[in-house]
Amino acid sequence: MLNVRDLRAHYGQVQALYGLDLALEEGSLTALLGANGAGKTTTLRAICNMVRSTGSIEFDGGSLSNRSTENIVRLGIAHVPQGRGTFTSMTVEENLHLGAIIRQDKSGVASDIEHIYAYFPVLKVRHTQQAGTLSGGEQQMLAVARALMLRPRLMLLDEPSFGLAPMIVRELFKILGKINREDKVTILVVEQNAQLALELADRAYVIETGRIVMSGRAADIASNDDVRRSYLGY
Ligand code: ATP
Repeated sequence: MLNVRDLRAHYGQVQALYGLDLALEEGSLTALLGANGAGKTTTLRAICNMVRSTGSIEFDGGSLSNRSTENIVRLGIAHVPQGRGTFTSMTVEENLHLGAIIRQDKSGVASDIEHIYAYFPVLKVRHTQQAGTLSGGEQQMLAVARALMLRPRLMLLDEPSFGLAPMIVRELFKILGKINREDKVTILVVEQNAQLALELADRAYVIETGRIVMSGRAADIASNDDVRRSYLGY
């Protein structure tokens, strides 16, 4: 579904990616792991054309390179950035409606909101509450829920576990697994919490200073002691 070849990205003079290759099968759940500053966030930004990059990025066989970020969203690629990015002064439900703003099928929006509340019952309870007053875990759930309102085919998640208590992360990851299996949303998740991400994902890539140094089945990576110690720090 997504094929990334020889991806290089720069911030001014600073090079962040050095020829990265990555491929996602439709329906898969893939983790992108690595240390601070390895280039994980930059990879997601490059896929959405939010950072200057070279190389080839293909989605369903078509190039994304010359498309605007808005256009890429319209193809069905939803990006949940680090730090959640919910609209804090708007209610939970207003945030969900915003997630659907580019959709034409307005009748489907109401049923999708109910579908999403089934995944995240806490958001239904708090549907009139201002997003900024939600707990960190609830805000992260809202960020994922809002991205789902786009009915994406591919969801890019940037460190959804950031700042959350382990129990909340487990709950969130369980829901992400369900979304992947039941709604057939292909997921690429960036994580520093390698152990949990490898439990969730089918496949994983390990990135180090802007290059992929390891890829394969998540179970194989998790069971390789050398890889775990050298790259994943657990
Ligand atoms: P983290 O896990 O800490 O979020 P990351 O793997 O997501 O790290 P990136 O945020 O992609 O890493 O950063 C990759 C490199 O690019 C780092 O060296 C970083 O300092 C640099 N970088 C990122 N954003 C900018 C920017 N706006 N301007 C200059 N350099 C940047």
